Amino acid sequence: MRFHKAESAFFVFVSLVFGAGALLIYAYVYLRGGAFTSGAQGHLVYFTQILFVIGVLLATAILFGMFFIYPLIRTQAREEGKLRAMTESLSARSESLQYAALTDSLTGTQNRRFFDDALREYLQEFGRIEKPVGLMVLDLDHFKQVNDTHGHDMGDEVLREVARCLKDMTRYHDVVSRMGGEEFAIVAPNMSHDALVKLAERIRKAVSSLVIDAGNVRIRVTISVGLSIWNGRESAEEFFRRADKMLYEAKRLGRNRVCA
Ligand code: GH3
Ligand code: MG
Ligand code: MG
Repeated sequence: MRFHKAESAFFVFVSLVFGAGALLIYAYVYLRGGAFTSGAQGHLVYFTQILFVIGVLLATAILFGMFFIYPLIRTQAREEGKLRAMTESLSARSESLQYAALTDSLTGTQNRRFFDDALREYLQEFGRIEKPVGLMVLDLDHFKQVNDTHGHDMGDEVLREVARCLKDMTRYHDVVSRMGGEEFAIVAPNMSHDALVKLAERIRKAVSSLVIDAGNVRIRVTISVGLSIWNGRESAEEFFRRADKMLYEAKRLGRNRVCA
């Protein structure tokens, strides 16, 4: 078994104090034995020697504690503090990396990776308690024209504004995610079909009334929405495909509409 430096130092310290204590008891017993009543000079010298050794042992223990054990404790405390700071900064870094891995950097909504996990989880959890899960797939209409007319940066600004609008219109536990390009998806659990259609309509109207200032012109956009309610049996992928088909239908029927 290997001892740490501080442990060895502690053992030395205890041995010194223990030695001094043992000698002290010995001196006491020696004294009680009536050594001085006999008046022998030799006893006095012997007793003084014992006291001297006790003094040396205690002084050594004190010096050892002050100049070896205490600095050792200080160093260890400092190193522990450094390690704690390092651990804290590492865990903060891993949190921010995790945030970055699951967030869309342009709009600040969740990204596809987060969405895929969240949808599967919601289906599992809400399926268990037999509550509905709704899904909307939303795509900006003729967005290429926005880029072509106003430039890519203005296109980005439009995407940010639309994302903000989607966040504002949804509840805390709804998952709003940018799936890529100008396509978003929203998972809205515990909502009836009618309530979900109404929400989708409100979102569509809110997006169409957004006005994005681009210097001397104002940009307006519309959005098409495909919507479906989970049937309780299909996989997350099948569920998404069904909502996506509805989006395709909304586009085919002329855009700026909700298809359920
Ligand atoms: P539709 O109504 O059929 O959806 O037409 P659309 O023009 O919106 O669709 P299309 O797929 O033809 O074009 C999508 C455009 O979205 C093309 C691409 O340049 C643009 N886009 C994709 N990602 C970004 C982005 O991150 N920023 C910007 N500014 N534009 C993007
Ligand atoms: Mg589009
Ligand atoms: Mg698209």
